[in-house]
Amino acid sequence: MDIKVKSYNHYKQESKYSLALIYTMLSMLVCVLFSISFIAIGATLAALIQLIGAFVFMIVSGLLRRRINILTRYISMTLSLILVFINSTFMFGPGYGFQYQLFPFLVVIFLLLDYNLKIERWNIYAISIITVTMFFIIQYVPFKPIFENYMMYESYYFAISLAFSFIGMLVLLFYLSREIFAVRDQLYSLATTDALTALYNRRTFIKRGQEAFKIAERGGNHFSIIIFDIDFFKSVNDEYGHVIGDVVLRSIAKHAKDSLRETDLLARYGGEEFAVLLQNTSQDQALVVAEKLRERIEAFEVDAQPHKINRTISLGVMGYHYSISSFDELIDKADKAMYKSKMMGKNRITLYNMTDPFYRERRLNEHRNKTL
Ligand code: GH3
Ligand code: MG
Ligand code: MG
Repeated sequence: MDIKVKSYNHYKQESKYSLALIYTMLSMLVCVLFSISFIAIGATLAALIQLIGAFVFMIVSGLLRRRINILTRYISMTLSLILVFINSTFMFGPGYGFQYQLFPFLVVIFLLLDYNLKIERWNIYAISIITVTMFFIIQYVPFKPIFENYMMYESYYFAISLAFSFIGMLVLLFYLSREIFAVRDQLYSLATTDALTALYNRRTFIKRGQEAFKIAERGGNHFSIIIFDIDFFKSVNDEYGHVIGDVVLRSIAKHAKDSLRETDLLARYGGEEFAVLLQNTSQDQALVVAEKLRERIEAFEVDAQPHKINRTISLGVMGYHYSISSFDELIDKADKAMYKSKMMGKNRITLYNMTDPFYRERRLNEHRNKTL
């Protein structure tokens, strides 16, 4: 499995290209449609101007396809403004409603330019101000339109322009929100999961564990945690290399996940160390789960072509107890229990037991090491 990581800039460029392309092609289509309708009502000069517009949009979209994108976005925007301005002032006047196309255009500015780049930010301000000013000029400055005597079509064009503007606005907002939500989901998944195994990451485990701890403290449901580490994993890397090491890690992670219930939260806690949060589960029940996990991984053979690799795991189990003051302390105790499993010969489960002299000795040793 390859993990494809596109650079952020590359992603931004891609989405801008495709949006600019859609925008210019739609503009071209609208120009052609208007041109046909202007010919139909006998406004040949207006039709000609629309055709010139369509032609320029065609060239721009051709350039965009070849990725010559230095000025094409600006050319498209300027051209749109000029066309709207000419149509709704010198050609037909404001009664035809062409100026309402400036509303979706305001959204286009924000989509095509990047607010995070300083230079483009200033361009966004400038073009927005020009657009709004243009709207008021069109609406209130009395130009003398050439096609004044086509008044009988005014109300049709007005309705069509308004409909186009609303539809354009909705399509653009749809595009924008789809983009925002896709990025939000991607960010959420990057922040909460581990790229190699696709399991939850350490941060998510701790966050969810702390929530469970608070609930248990308030007298809610009890929960337990299991921490496990793959035995002799270093030898996989040493014998077969890191790539196979990763394959083994991923397969064991998947196998462990399949062995658990949907409601159990399995996370990659460290390199080849994993943690399970078991909601509504007593320590005794957690022991049963841990034993099932141990057995299933012991029986599991990773198919890492051409090798078949088998590893076991050592586990530590700890259930919520009122004498424990924080979730961190609970993890620490499960970790110590896991460590004891390693010490006792691996491929086994240890339940943390406060009265066990093993932990007392360890604490004494830690204390001794610190004071030395
Ligand atoms: P033990 O039974 O005591 O756990 O022995 P071990 O060999 O598993 O030793 P330990 O847990 O200390 O070693 C962890 C090794 O796991 C060291 C590191 O190279 C390897 N490792 C950690 N993360 C990854 C990873 O993402 N990919 C690969 N291929 N190896 C990893
Ligand atoms: Mg290990
Ligand atoms: Mg380890």
